[in-house]
Amino acid sequence: MKRLLFLLICISTYQIHSQIIDLGIMRLDSISFSNQLDMIIKTHQRDSLAQVYMTENWDSTTFNPYKEYKQTFPFEVSFADSTFTSPIGRKKVVTSRYGWRNRRAHKGIDIDLITGDDVMTIFDGKVRAVRTFPGLGKTVVVRHENGLETTYAHLSKQVVKVNDTITKGTVIGKGGNTGNSRGSHLHLIVSYRGVYINPEYLFEFTEENKIRSQDIWITRRWVTPYLHSSRRQSNIIIATTEEEALQNEEKQKKIYIVKKGDTLSKIANRHHTSITAICKENSIKKTSTLRIGQQLVVNK
Ligand SMILES: [Zn+2]
Repeated sequence: MKRLLFLLICISTYQIHSQIIDLGIMRLDSISFSNQLDMIIKTHQRDSLAQVYMTENWDSTTFNPYKEYKQTFPFEVSFADSTFTSPIGRKKVVTSRYGWRNRRAHKGIDIDLITGDDVMTIFDGKVRAVRTFPGLGKTVVVRHENGLETTYAHLSKQVVKVNDTITKGTVIGKGGNTGNSRGSHLHLIVSYRGVYINPEYLFEFTEENKIRSQDIWITRRWVTPYLHSSRRQSNIIIATTEEEALQNEEKQKKIYIVKKGDTLSKIANRHHTSITAICKENSIKKTSTLRIGQQLVVNK
């Protein structure tokens, strides 16, 4: 209520200021005031959105409580900070990336560690699940106020409880090798309402722990593992507005005309994509015979 009153006062003061602008007086002051007003409105919106995010589909028994939810694209993820906290205390060595791996989807990023190392939450949040999930082993899922969830898998030990409110850097468990894992590492998943995002599109896993932008628009490309390889970093171009996101989506599509001697594997390699991606995009089978002159949509 107090906040609403404050907003009303701000809006009426803003109107007075606008009248002053009409007279050509105090122009600079008014511009900075309107920036402040934008900030207040933005913060207010963020607070009310956070309340929704922190309560919706709150279920500690399942890994993905958003199975019934259908996400539309592109969508926006906003950050209050410009950095995250490293999930481990040592230098981050990425051993496997989000993407296509051995003909399967790898929906997280693997960071090397030694069993027993502390694993920390990368943002403030609330613990949604502490369980052993098939494949993931001992796992902690943390929900954050911007709607993102971060999942820490293959742990040897979990040290937080469901519904714990935690701040960035809080130790949530010890690193390990549980579940479907070869060698101790952290499998870090970043998701938004059940959609698994390529973590490298949002974050730089370097010593600076940078968030690539405070407003990031996510297109289908960044939630589709077969458009990425687990062995190399994808070419990252951040969309900070909806328009940019829509433009990027269009730019990535390219028509390729099949030439003599082409095979799906040659075309996939040349365009840094996978055979699976080409087949899905064009509704063809891996065994389909290519015709010379045939048009194929390839995603870069
Ligand atoms: Zn992994």
